[in-house]
Amino acid sequence: MGRSVVAIALVLGLTSCNQTTPEPEKTGILSSQSIPAAMQGVHAKQLFGVQGRGSEHSPAVYGGYARGCLAGGVALPETGPTWQAMRLSRNRNWGHPQTIDFVQKLSHVAAQQPGWNGLYVGDISQPRGGPMLTGHASHQLGLDVDIWLNPADNLKLSRVERENISAISMQRANGAYTNSQWTRAHHEIVKAAAKDPRTARIFIFAGAKAQMCRDETGDRAWLRKVRPWWGHHYHFHVRLNCPDNATGCEPQAAPPPGDGCAEAEQWVRNILNPPPPDPTAPKPKPKRELTMADLPRQCVAVLQGN
Ligand SMILES: [Zn+2]
Repeated sequence: MGRSVVAIALVLGLTSCNQTTPEPEKTGILSSQSIPAAMQGVHAKQLFGVQGRGSEHSPAVYGGYARGCLAGGVALPETGPTWQAMRLSRNRNWGHPQTIDFVQKLSHVAAQQPGWNGLYVGDISQPRGGPMLTGHASHQLGLDVDIWLNPADNLKLSRVERENISAISMQRANGAYTNSQWTRAHHEIVKAAAKDPRTARIFIFAGAKAQMCRDETGDRAWLRKVRPWWGHHYHFHVRLNCPDNATGCEPQAAPPPGDGCAEAEQWVRNILNPPPPDPTAPKPKPKRELTMADLPRQCVAVLQGN
């Protein structure tokens, strides 16, 4: 045990003189740090994956959704009046305080739906954000959250049950359509999530977007934020905007104007009738592991903080 603590401390560069910069920390703006030798060439996911809790900084995010980190992350309580965090062993129920507030408010909306008592909350981020040992390319800033599509009817699930309970798929025909599990409650919950001004985008399978396009008879502006994406039939993924005054946060371009419903129908047609592969399409680049050199330099301070 003692040895592994020392090993972790070495990896994190904690044994070298621990310069504290109290002033910038108070303002929430961390300074750029050079990368300590012990962090150089190491996969960043190894460094962030061993962090057990958020850093004692003011909340701030640095970098982009798929290349960044989170200072002052806070945990979504594992169980609340209208939510439960799932798969607790992953320790990914950490986020920016705005994300935690968002989830809690959305869970109140969900609790009003027939058959729902709240939300089952999937991955947000690691305690200090950053790349993960498994899964997700994004979710690095504490601003992305996966919300299960299972109606959260039982909010007394044990830790073991939360590890083992299966998510329920809402799709049929490879995601071209919703299946019989999909209800108006799903529509209302996704709509409420999209209407929150903090939300930048929601990712869900194409069949669900197309279904919501057909079912919505009122205001359609919120549909713009709902984007068809692969997978995402067990959960939907909410991406929040950069928080106000988060100068280190790199926003994503806004979705194209309009409700995006014609685009969703095109996705559906392509799923049902896949077009022949485009011979001129660029080859997908092999995925490269991120190191600290790929991340904003403030992420060094995030790792080194208490
Ligand atoms: Zn996600």
